[in-house]
Amino acid sequence: MKSLISMGPRQVEFGEREEPSLLPGQVLIQVAACGICGTDLHVYKGLPAAWPVPGIRGHEFAGTVLAWADDVQGFQDGDRVVVQPLVYCGICRFCRAGQTNLCANLYLIGGEQPGGFAERVAVPASSLYKVPENLSLKQAALVETLATAVHAFEQNVSGILRSVVVLGAGAQGLFAVQLARLAGAKLIAVSETLPHRLAMAQKLGATHVIKAGLEDIVEAIRALTDGEGVDLVIEAAGKAVTRQQATQLLRPGGTAIFLALGAETTPIDFMSLVSSELHLRGTQCYTDADFSLAIELLASGEIAVDPIVTTMPLEKGAAAFEMLASNPGEMIKVILAP
Ligand SMILES: [Zn+2]
Ligand SMILES: [Zn+2]
Repeated sequence: MKSLISMGPRQVEFGEREEPSLLPGQVLIQVAACGICGTDLHVYKGLPAAWPVPGIRGHEFAGTVLAWADDVQGFQDGDRVVVQPLVYCGICRFCRAGQTNLCANLYLIGGEQPGGFAERVAVPASSLYKVPENLSLKQAALVETLATAVHAFEQNVSGILRSVVVLGAGAQGLFAVQLARLAGAKLIAVSETLPHRLAMAQKLGATHVIKAGLEDIVEAIRALTDGEGVDLVIEAAGKAVTRQQATQLLRPGGTAIFLALGAETTPIDFMSLVSSELHLRGTQCYTDADFSLAIELLASGEIAVDPIVTTMPLEKGAAAFEMLASNPGEMIKVILAP
């Protein structure tokens, strides 16, 4: 079958791989659409990961059911499904506590196991969610990305949300903008270097946009909030400078959520962190509850995905990776279609 094979840093090849074999408990999926994730890009650029090389990546995918193992029930030929790619053990103390995203034995379909950058892939039946009729498979491929932003809000936001800053307007940042709008925020400011991403943020609900590097975001937010700062900052850029800004933009008692990866060490002013009682929260992937909610939010149209998606054929995957890593241009989220 046709596959996109990761050979090492900055090396992705389109070629032929053996068909997956169906193990007990698994379902064979014909992949319709698979997104390139920020994490895929980090690994492409050389971030160390426990993922095999060569290997088939791609953990944001949807498709149709082709076959299933004898011990699997509840599926029909052609069922439209989206894959929740984080496979957890269900028995460690974190899983028992419902924190399956922190499972001690976690693995990723499209990471440790072959993923959706191929025509077909075999996955555990328990990883599958049916796709509602009014959601296309291309849209469904974005459920995983949205679920991460949903988790960030579900874990850390309670009560009345009035003001939010989103740092970075990639797919995660743009989902955060929309979730902030759903959560009721009246002030949603976005900082980003790329102008067309700022325009997109505005289209999706940002009330203020700030050109990162050209405008002083801390000054701008102080001016907008009577010098107070905001309730919530979503750090979706993963740079030392944006992490520092995140802590400087908060009102006393505010919360900053860090959802972007990035290996840079970051000095933080702990004097103000302690005295202003700031909450700094990391967030990692999602649980099944977040994944279900993400499906509902997309199916209901409350969260828009179409404007941020560029679709390319799987055979153009190597070019897509290199473009996203070096010069994304107008592209925000790329979906590869086998
Ligand atoms: Zn992802
Ligand atoms: Zn576990």
